[in-house]
Amino acid sequence: MTTPGLAPSYTTARQRFLAAADHAGARVATHDHPLAGREGEQLGIDVAEIGDPAAGDVLWIVSGTHGVEGFTGSALQTHWLTTATAPPGVRVVLVHAFNPYGFAWVRRVNEDNVDLNRNFVDWSEPAPINERYGGIAHLLVPERWDDETVAFTTTRLFEYAGEIGLDAMQEVVSSGQYAHPSGVFYGGSGKVWSHRWLEEHASGLAGQAARLGIVDLHTGLGPWGHGELISHEAGDDPGYQRGTAWWGEVRSMQDGESVSANLSGDWLGRIAAFVPDVEITAAALEFGTVDTVSVLQALRADAWLHAHGDPDGDGAAAVRAQVRAAFADDDPAWFEAVRTRFDEVVEQALLALTTATK
Ligand SMILES: [Zn+2]
Repeated sequence: MTTPGLAPSYTTARQRFLAAADHAGARVATHDHPLAGREGEQLGIDVAEIGDPAAGDVLWIVSGTHGVEGFTGSALQTHWLTTATAPPGVRVVLVHAFNPYGFAWVRRVNEDNVDLNRNFVDWSEPAPINERYGGIAHLLVPERWDDETVAFTTTRLFEYAGEIGLDAMQEVVSSGQYAHPSGVFYGGSGKVWSHRWLEEHASGLAGQAARLGIVDLHTGLGPWGHGELISHEAGDDPGYQRGTAWWGEVRSMQDGESVSANLSGDWLGRIAAFVPDVEITAAALEFGTVDTVSVLQALRADAWLHAHGDPDGDGAAAVRAQVRAAFADDDPAWFEAVRTRFDEVVEQALLALTTATK
């Protein structure tokens, strides 16, 4: 059967997801976001559930943690609803658009310019300090975004990367920062809306789960069409070891194996605190799109647009197109590769849950 591929907008993606959920007989709950989208549309997190409400084995599949990355995640969730179902004894929970505002505005960040996966730090402690970010903050997001400024700042950033090395550069730029609210990879100054939503609803989403699998869908890192499983845990953690038993290769951020920097404040690293008595096996599934420099240039342009430009002005559509192209590829061959890998990962998770020692 043919799949429609990636939707052109958040609203269309949401309509397709809800239609597929309805057709599959899923139980659906909608949680409204307090703000409207770019065209005044209502925003929200939609949760579709399939399978026994009292199941002891539960799988969450989550899209749109990083807004714009939801174009792919949403299409994969819709694909799952139209082609698969929950095996006996397992409940599958699809969380659609965890960061709906970013999805609708074609941004990776949320309504507060916050990267949701840098916001799940322990806010009872002082926020982590990323001192070196401050030294290049003015280069990453300059006040102007004309050709001359882009060329100059990009050259300076390359020079800095040459001095400290590419891995260190990735860490400085993308591991998270809490001191520059209009910068990139900003973690915020407290719990944002999606964070509070998860904290409130996590135990309900887990239900009667004794075992919980989580696949959090992302795009923008790694080789084109390749899907890498990334764990927030270190190699000797039981959750990581279960992950490798389920899926084979899982890369640990903490051990520096992954395409991702070892970052602070990702939600998978915090979820155990919200559902404390559940055995959790979780990974981000990260699909590669374009090269890292193109991704960073898109994020810089987006941050500039919202800090110093006019998000409703003439140049905004071009920036949004640049961001979308960095995180989603409308080439059917790309989505076919992504979908094949997604099917494999979800099937492996469901198999592991149904065969777990009870
Ligand atoms: Zn992401």
